[in-house]
Amino acid sequence: MTDISTALIHHPYVPPEGFAAPQPGVFKASTVLFPNVAAMRNFEWKDKTAYTYGLHGTPTTYMLEERLCTLEGGLQCLLLPSGLAAIANVALSLLSSGDEVLIPDNAYGPNKVLAAGELKAWGISHRFYDPLDPRDLAAKICAQTRLVWLEAAGSVTLEFPDLCELVRVCKARDVVCALDNTWGAGLAFAPFDLLPGSSPALGVDISVHALTKYPSGGGDVLMGSVITRDPALHMKLKLTHMRLGSGVGANDAEAVLRALPSMALRYRTHDQATRQLAHWCQSRAEFAQVLHPALPDSPGHQHWRALCKPDFGGAAGLFSVIFQPHYAQRQIDAFCDALQLFGIGYSWGGPMSLVVPYELASMRSNWPAHLKQGILVRFSIGLEAVADLQADLQQALQTALA
Ligand SMILES: *Cc1c(COP(=O)(O)O)cnc(C)c1O
Repeated sequence: MTDISTALIHHPYVPPEGFAAPQPGVFKASTVLFPNVAAMRNFEWKDKTAYTYGLHGTPTTYMLEERLCTLEGGLQCLLLPSGLAAIANVALSLLSSGDEVLIPDNAYGPNKVLAAGELKAWGISHRFYDPLDPRDLAAKICAQTRLVWLEAAGSVTLEFPDLCELVRVCKARDVVCALDNTWGAGLAFAPFDLLPGSSPALGVDISVHALTKYPSGGGDVLMGSVITRDPALHMKLKLTHMRLGSGVGANDAEAVLRALPSMALRYRTHDQATRQLAHWCQSRAEFAQVLHPALPDSPGHQHWRALCKPDFGGAAGLFSVIFQPHYAQRQIDAFCDALQLFGIGYSWGGPMSLVVPYELASMRSNWPAHLKQGILVRFSIGLEAVADLQADLQQALQTALA
């Protein structure tokens, strides 16, 4: 072999085995090599006994999948390029023409948009239910219902549903229930074991997680997971995942593997700071309502208290405020613009605090009776010092609304 290109591609050196370091290595591949043609013909891509193609798994993605199963208490995991891709994988796998999906009215917005777009175009109908009323869900489940989405707490308005009762309603009617568990992140409660110690366990069928948020923790990775405890259900989801080609990059998987060990610490820190700031906001006359599940008058607080760790670490890093109704949109926009430490931008779970004003009326079927009238702003609390964030909120209120 004299050609330098050939020599550099077919290089004989193999490093010694047994290298060990706290952080797992990163394996990057589209092509995976087989030892011979027979091994290639007999490939098995459906479980983690072998490797066939980068899209179907590498040591890096297998490792992340296993750690996420541990985080959420599941047995099987799929990785996807975003949280929304994970939601879509569930819908596309379980629904076909003539079926119906039920979605909580306070669900993550793009889940509703998917239902109104592709799902509707493919003959799959959807309806929204009131997440605070399990009887409404029970009344809406019909012969066509194949999937029920759950979310705790709800997006933007953070109502906490009676998750156990919603799951019981789905089980009684034998309908698959999938939880968007991004907020709880596997830390606030155990999605597959909502009543620890009860036998048989009461839990969701599928837990979807936007790893983009707390598992990544940096605001710099997009990824999602679909976790199950049922091998047959997992295989159905996995076949769709395979046919759609929804793999993730090794560098992104490595970034999440690197951030996972500090996730519980970060979650607790976000949680503590968020509670302090939400509490402070309650004392301010500018706000008609503060929405955070740990506040006793926040919608569904009793369900949050019953399910999550009330004292510490069980309420994530989000809260919303509804301004007094006499403030105009331009004043609220000026308030957001006046904030110095809060970035204006979507997503959450990273070190920087963020703020987003929402047009709630356009996001709900009706203005929910448990919410005061006024313009809503959501905060995602990062890892800055609480005193600095509070001072920033205070100066922005004074600057924009005085
Ligand atoms: C962010 C988010 C998603 C989607 O995650 P992406 O990775 O941004 O697609 C899904 N559900 C919830 C509740 C989220 O907050």
